[in-house]
Amino acid sequence: MQCPACRHKESHVLESRSADLGRSVRRRRECLRCQERFTTYERVEVIPLMVLKRNGGRESFSRSKILHGLSRACEKTTVTPKQVRLIVDDLESFLQQRNYREITSKDLGELILDRLAQLSEVAYIRFASVYGQFTSTDDFFAILRLLEKRNEESLQWHQNLSTPGS
Ligand SMILES: [Zn+2]
Repeated sequence: MQCPACRHKESHVLESRSADLGRSVRRRRECLRCQERFTTYERVEVIPLMVLKRNGGRESFSRSKILHGLSRACEKTTVTPKQVRLIVDDLESFLQQRNYREITSKDLGELILDRLAQLSEVAYIRFASVYGQFTSTDDFFAILRLLEKRNEESLQWHQNLSTPGS
């Protein structure tokens, strides 16, 4: 880090402190040549994830918006607020790990539904409707069939476990 006074490239760190609620590190430095003291900040570069909407528009990914929609879908179900936060945390790290720059709202909805399906069918169906996943009763029944299929698969899986060698 170049000294702002003499442009010397070497300094030593006098103090490191977490800043911005842990999102950055503040470092107090001293130039090794002129002893000028200065401060640097180090933070993770965040590339905003864009969501492509059905109507062709785009908006930046909003954690709070998804949290809000999910919380609404999970009201009066067995899904706890903590589980809702875990779903969103899991979704966010999934998207970050894969370096998504943009995602369609449809794909985003499906990623959330995949996670919700493991917790509550009621919340799953509600979220699907909130998210505009289905626009007709045909779609609604398609989702119900999908849920039934999932249940059958997990049932078969358990049966396979309990009857080894079959
Ligand atoms: Zn200096």
